[in-house]
Amino acid sequence: MKSFLEDLDLSEVRTPAFVLELGKLESNLKLLSRVAEESGAKILLAQKAFSEYSAYPLVKKYLAGTASSGINEAKLAKEFFLEGEIHVFSPAYPESELFELAEFADSIVFNSEGQIDLYAEKVKKIAGGLGRSIEIGLRVNPEYSEVTTELYDPCSKNSRLGARASELSDKISEKIDLLHFHAMCEQNSDTLERILVRFEERFGGVISKVRKVNFGGGHHITRGDYDVPLLVSLVKNFYERYSNLETIYLEPGEAVALNAGVFLSRVLDVKSAADGKKILILDCSVPCHMPDVIEMPYTPEVVGAGKAGERNFDCILAGRSCLAGDSAGVYSFDKVPEVGEVLIFKDMAHYTTVKTNTFNGMNLPDLSVWDGKGYRVLKRFGYEDFKSRL
Ligand SMILES: *Cc1c(COP(=O)(O)O)cnc(C)c1O
Repeated sequence: MKSFLEDLDLSEVRTPAFVLELGKLESNLKLLSRVAEESGAKILLAQKAFSEYSAYPLVKKYLAGTASSGINEAKLAKEFFLEGEIHVFSPAYPESELFELAEFADSIVFNSEGQIDLYAEKVKKIAGGLGRSIEIGLRVNPEYSEVTTELYDPCSKNSRLGARASELSDKISEKIDLLHFHAMCEQNSDTLERILVRFEERFGGVISKVRKVNFGGGHHITRGDYDVPLLVSLVKNFYERYSNLETIYLEPGEAVALNAGVFLSRVLDVKSAADGKKILILDCSVPCHMPDVIEMPYTPEVVGAGKAGERNFDCILAGRSCLAGDSAGVYSFDKVPEVGEVLIFKDMAHYTTVKTNTFNGMNLPDLSVWDGKGYRVLKRFGYEDFKSRL
């Protein structure tokens, strides 16, 4: 399959636009399904990272189901990820949402024993009334993680995410089918290995009584240096040591769509900064279209550009909203890009289209795909999309 960067006529593309590369998505999915096959784990798509349901028919061929953060993601799974398992976790559930989920979700993971005591029986009764069964899970906090940014650390000191072992009654294993933790972010399997030690130390008694466990997301499985054999052996080993376990789940988000798409934006104007750098004003907005660049924060790679100082000309890539900090940072180029040129931001398929917003009335970028043969725009947005949210 050809790379679209070689083949796409950028002058024909309306920007800004997200382009999903189906070939790259599929190669990620193939690796994930190989992990599932070799380890015996079931792998779910964490939809919060990637919800482009136009691609779900492809995703569905390789993954067992989806993980949702609440009712709307779960409904998307029900509509477009047909026959996949629907798992949901929320730090707390409003009653109305929970009762609706009880009608179609397969697994509801609670964040406290208190919510389980309040709702598990009611949820099971609603599902039972419809002739279906539903599994009750509990997210626990292994009180160990290797995430250094507090904003992204589910195990920071006063984290609300997951129950600590000391909060649980000795009856907890009778109340649940599944034990869940999520304590990783963009990490390799050696981190998982160390977390599993803590998870077992604290929850071994419960693990040996439930039918299922879920090792959460944050596994950067499709990254080049990820140690896949270690992950496979950790999962197999866990199955061997807990013969009570029917299923071990992994629910990666980012790894599913890693490097599976780009963001295209055109230079609208070139100005000079006080220190002589060029400022390129693009037809996008960083906080609207790539909010993680500011929130994480991180500097995305741009095709043909180096880090500041690496090449002849340092340029600030700036957006067109009113926010003073609407910028992706300083990049260097061999030649200053001209007005009309299209810049290609890499690795823009995950945590992007799910996070865009219309601050300043900014238009949302086109959603398009590259399917190996051609470029297709799936969705184009306009004034009505801005208006309908207000
Ligand atoms: C965010 C999240 C995931 C997915 O994490 P990635 O880093 O995208 O793999 C999975 N499970 C839970 C509970 C999450 O909060």
